[in-house]
Amino acid sequence: MRVTVFGVGYVGLVQGAILAEVGHDVTCVDVDQDKVALLNNGGIPIYEPGLEPIVKENLAAGRLHFTTDAKEGVQRAEVIFIAVGTPPDEDGSADLKYVLSVARTVAEHMQEHKIVINKSTVPVGTADKVRASITETLRQRKVELSFDVVSNPEFLKEGAAVKDCMSPDRIILGTESSNSEKVLRRLYAPFNRNHEKIIVMDVRSAELTKYAANCMLATKISFMNEIANLAEKFGADVENVRRGIGSDPRIGYHFIYPGCGYGGSCFPKDVQALIRSANAVGYQARVLESVEAVNYAQKEKLFGYISDYFDGQLDGKTVALWGLSFKPNTDDMREAPSRVLMEQLWEEGATVQAYDPEAMEETQRVYGGRNDLRLMGTKEAALSGADFLVICTDWQAFKAPDFELIKQQLAQPLIFDGRNLYDPQQMHELGIHYFGIGRGQSI
Ligand code: NAD
Repeated sequence: MRVTVFGVGYVGLVQGAILAEVGHDVTCVDVDQDKVALLNNGGIPIYEPGLEPIVKENLAAGRLHFTTDAKEGVQRAEVIFIAVGTPPDEDGSADLKYVLSVARTVAEHMQEHKIVINKSTVPVGTADKVRASITETLRQRKVELSFDVVSNPEFLKEGAAVKDCMSPDRIILGTESSNSEKVLRRLYAPFNRNHEKIIVMDVRSAELTKYAANCMLATKISFMNEIANLAEKFGADVENVRRGIGSDPRIGYHFIYPGCGYGGSCFPKDVQALIRSANAVGYQARVLESVEAVNYAQKEKLFGYISDYFDGQLDGKTVALWGLSFKPNTDDMREAPSRVLMEQLWEEGATVQAYDPEAMEETQRVYGGRNDLRLMGTKEAALSGADFLVICTDWQAFKAPDFELIKQQLAQPLIFDGRNLYDPQQMHELGIHYFGIGRGQSI
């Protein structure tokens, strides 16, 4: 099947690549000329495990095309995905300008029936806006053409995006058109072989499903961080509590890890956007407001521990920082807790020596040129001459380090761990002063 994907970001690129991988003929359109040129030369603009070989092989096989030519993209395919960004507006609501711009582009160039599929995360009612935008542009062109707008939200996780798209937990199709449903069932058939994953529903429910999923996950994290904060006050260890509640199948172990807050391009913006959408229909989303407030405070937690420990005297300190990306297996630093921490440390006159297995280039892009940031080539190099160590991301490579080396390299054996990677008792036995999140009295 011929497919066009607008937007080659995390979602569009992975979606385009896996559709090509199963044999579809995919054109990916982006307004970013540099990105398109990089991809056409065999480069990959993001780090995502398993993505590079799929893109390269399908590009070479002629099943995957990258272009800035929107007209070609629209006219080549019946099925057109919108996978462009929906960043927060000034008030936190989702900014639809890129989505609506693609809708207009489709309407400007279409010559026959199109199925326009919205994969971007968008507020309830956006399909109606996309439909209205296409209708208006066709009216201006004085042509009458049929089209359908489908909601097909994406649930991939950065860091596991290829795997998630190749074997999705579910494929949500929001459509009232039996023709569109039939076409999309055919498109997704290779991913729906062993058991039924396609859930068909009305468009508005599909749009809300995506927000509900992300907000539920963010709620689990903020809930657990609240329990961690209570554990700290009560002198309990939240890691024991986590294991204790996770064993209940109604609760489960997923997404109840306490830490220094959630980040990324999705949870913060989607929680905010649903709060704003709720306000717009006269409803105060009190649970979500609290989820956001708890997370905001949680991102300042590590700095609070550090500042208390040093009585606010951080001027001239050198801080070893492990982990810059907002979570492991990605180079994405959008809304990362590490950023909040670094900016607070810099404000107080500290210097950061940072290491991340994948996000060094991105850090350079965001903060390059600062003389209070040193990007180090290894996690060991980041320790050299530092006063203490802070951990912001739970990369596998940080889980069992050489603690003797850490002690040797740091000016004092002191670790602030935003991901609870280590056992406080072991740290005590090793003579390391250790602060985790919600671990009772620090030892
Ligand atoms: P991104 O910022 O990585 O990529 C968006 C791309 O769209 C960019 O390359 C940009 O140049 C391009 N673009 C903008 N306007 C365009 C236009 N008019 N025509 C063609 N291309 C255009 O975004 P992303 O992370 O891939 O997210 C896309 C959407 O998917 C968002 O709504 C997001 O909330 C949602 N989503 C993201 C994830 C994730 O983990 N990143 C997961 C599920 C859903």
